[in-house]
Amino acid sequence: MNIDFNKNSDGLVPAIIQDARTRKVLMLGYMNEEAFLKTNRTKKVTFYSRTKKRLWTKGEESGNFLNLVDIKLDCDNDTLLIQVKPEGPVCHKGTDTCWAEENKVEYGFLSKLEGIIAQRQKLSETEPKLRKENESSYVVSLFDEGINKIAQKVGEEAVETVIEAKDNNDELFLNESADLLFHYLILLKAKGFELRDIVKVLEERH
Ligand code: AMP
Ligand code: ZN
Ligand code: ZN
Ligand code: ZN
Repeated sequence: MNIDFNKNSDGLVPAIIQDARTRKVLMLGYMNEEAFLKTNRTKKVTFYSRTKKRLWTKGEESGNFLNLVDIKLDCDNDTLLIQVKPEGPVCHKGTDTCWAEENKVEYGFLSKLEGIIAQRQKLSETEPKLRKENESSYVVSLFDEGINKIAQKVGEEAVETVIEAKDNNDELFLNESADLLFHYLILLKAKGFELRDIVKVLEERH
């Protein structure tokens, strides 16, 4: 790996630390050539600490080591992307990442949708007469009706998806697929689960 340690006069390159599984950025550190070599040798990420002015193996005091999975060099050889399997919280303040985020997989818009569905479920737990006027929604009413009704909706949307799959109308097929996925997310939530629980099962089978 041809890393350009001389671009900065201090001989350091930034190392972006990413969780290999969740893809979350966990922290940023700096490496000189010695730190890079030690990281490769020990498989525990080691930085050059600009504060301590010495090599610093992340986790040396806390035990929260960063286990090396892969190292990638950027387009102009001056920045490292280091994929790791972290042991424990990465930030010394106790959070999963140095940006106070949870280190869990996110599924983009689907996760956003799951968040909205969770809010609707909460609303459905408050008595209908105590709800504000703008708090009635289709999803709230589905949660009000309960699991059986939600499961039935999933069945209906699944059948509609099957019917459209046999036709040659892509637009209808995509729309029914979206209905199915949407109602399936509601059913998952009603059962107390999330998409990540299903992905976990799939991963374990893999
Ligand atoms: P550790 O390497 O986890 O044993 O932590 C030793 C010391 O390194 C801490 O007391 C902090 O001063 C510093 N430190 C640990 N983790 C981080 C981090 N993610 N970002 C910046 N400094 C850190
Ligand atoms: Zn670069
Ligand atoms: Zn931090
Ligand atoms: Zn439908």
